[in-house]
Amino acid sequence: MIPYKHEPFTNFSVDRNKRAFEAALKTVTGYLGNDYSLIINGERISTDDKIISRNPASKNEIIGSVSMANKQLTERAMNSALHAFEAWKKVNPEVRADILFKAAAIIRRRKHEFSALLVKEAGKPWNEADADTAEGIDFLEYYGRQILKIKSGKRVASREGEYNRYEYIPLGVGVVISPWNFAFAIMAGTTAAALVTGNTVLLKPASTTPVIAAKFMEVLEEAGMPNGVVNFIPGSGTEIGDYLVDHPKTRFISFTGSREVGTRIYERAAKVNEGQIWLKRVIAEMGGKDTIIVDKEADLELAAQSIVTSAFGFSGQKCSACSRAIIVEDVYDYVLNRSIELTKELTIGDPGDSENFMGPVNDQQAFDKIMRYMEIGKDEGKLMIGGHGDDSKGYYIHPTIFADLDVKARLMKEEIFGPVVAFAKAKDFTEAIKIANDTDYGLTGAVITNNRQHLEQAREEFHVGNLYFNRGCTGAIVGYQPFGGFNMSGTDSKAGGPDYLLLHMQAKTTSEML
Ligand code: GLU
Repeated sequence: MIPYKHEPFTNFSVDRNKRAFEAALKTVTGYLGNDYSLIINGERISTDDKIISRNPASKNEIIGSVSMANKQLTERAMNSALHAFEAWKKVNPEVRADILFKAAAIIRRRKHEFSALLVKEAGKPWNEADADTAEGIDFLEYYGRQILKIKSGKRVASREGEYNRYEYIPLGVGVVISPWNFAFAIMAGTTAAALVTGNTVLLKPASTTPVIAAKFMEVLEEAGMPNGVVNFIPGSGTEIGDYLVDHPKTRFISFTGSREVGTRIYERAAKVNEGQIWLKRVIAEMGGKDTIIVDKEADLELAAQSIVTSAFGFSGQKCSACSRAIIVEDVYDYVLNRSIELTKELTIGDPGDSENFMGPVNDQQAFDKIMRYMEIGKDEGKLMIGGHGDDSKGYYIHPTIFADLDVKARLMKEEIFGPVVAFAKAKDFTEAIKIANDTDYGLTGAVITNNRQHLEQAREEFHVGNLYFNRGCTGAIVGYQPFGGFNMSGTDSKAGGPDYLLLHMQAKTTSEML
C-alpha cells in the first residue's frame, strides 16, 4: 500500500491546467438543470417537492432540482439502512476500504469536473474548489488506510491461561448532516468515515449544495458500495432533520454546521425515545471565532498576508476563517494599513472567471446576515474598507475590515461567516492571547511572531483545536493537521486525524479461558 500523501493542488497558472478546468466547466454547464432523485436501498425515488439548487453567483442559473424526502420516505431510508447494516457490519474492513480507494480514484480522474461543479453550485473560486475536491479525495484515502490500522483492535494484556482481545465494532445507523461550505470534502469525509467503519448511513446534504452530493452517491455506487449502505435523503431541516435526530434507531449523528443547529441536535439527541436502547453519540463540528495574533517582533508582511487570505478566502465562509486580528500595539497601525492595501487588490466577481479571488456568499440568508453585521460593525468600530454588498445578480459582499474594536464588541464575539474581519489592539503578547481566548469558541488560531518564547506560550495558553505558527489559520490538510475545535466549536473531534474513525465505533473485549 502506498503511504498516504495529500492530493496536490492544481497550479492554474499552467496553461494546460487552465484549459482543462475550462473544459470541465463546460462539461458541468452541459448538465445544469438536471433532475436528481432520492436513493433509498439503491432505488431512485423521485418526489414532487424539489430543492432547486442555484448558482449563488448568478441566481437565475439552476444547477439542478433534487427530490426532497418527507417523513415517510425517511422512515423507509432508515429501514433500508437498518437492514443493510446486518450485512455491512460483517464485511471485511479491507473490502470497505477498497470501496473508498476506488471512489478516490474515480474522483481523481474527474477532479476538475467535481471542482467545476463546486464553482457553480457553491460559488467557489477555482483554487478553493480545487482544494475542496482534493480534500474529499484525501479523506477517502486517509480513512481507507486508517481502518486498516485499527481493524484488528488494540493489544491488551492477558494473564496466564486466558486470551484477551480488544476490538472495535461499528455502532449502527448514522445520520450524516453535511454543510454547504465544504460541500464536497466534508460531505464525502463524514460519510466515508461512517461507512468505512461498518456503519450504514442516512445522508442529508446541505440544502444549497445537494447536486455535488448526488454526484458523490453515483461515485460510491460505481465504486461498488452495496445498496442501502448510504441512503441519500435531501430534505428540509424542519421536515426531516428533527425526525432523523429523534429516531430511536438512530445510533449516531455526524453533523457539521452552525452552532445553533449543532446545539439543538445535541440537546435532542440526549433524549431517550420510546424503543431506543442506547445513548446516541453526536459528532459535531460547529463554528469558530478565529484569531490571528500579531506580535511586535514579527514578519509584518507575512502577518498582513495571512490575515487577508484567512479572512477573505472563500469570502470568509470557513469555520476556520480569521474573523479577529489582534495586534500588539507597537505594530498595529502598520499591520492594519498593510492589510487594507492588500484587500484593495482583491478581485471580486463571478468565480467561473479564474481571475477572481472572491465570489459570492452562499445565499440570501447569508447575505442578509452578513449585511446586518456591517451595520453593527459601523456602530462598534471604524469601517476601513468594504462594508457593502450587492445581491442583484448574485450574493456579492466586499471584503471588509473594521478597526479599533473593543474586546467586548459583538464583532469580536459572534461568528459572522462572511468576509469581515475585526482588528483590535493589545498592549502586549500576553494580553493578545487573553483577548483571543475570550470567546465561546475554540477552533483555529494563528500566531505571527519571531519570538520563540511567545510561540511556546501560545502553544500552552492559546486554547484552540488547530493552532498555527507563522501562517494563516485556514487550510488544514487531512492527515497532516487533523481538524476540529474546543468549546462551542464542537465535540472536540478531529476530522482527518488518527482518532476520528474511533468516534464511529465501540470497543468490545473478549476474554477466553485457555
Ligand atoms: N478544514 C477547513 C480549514 O482548515 C475548514 C472547515 C470548515 O470550514 O468547516 O480551513
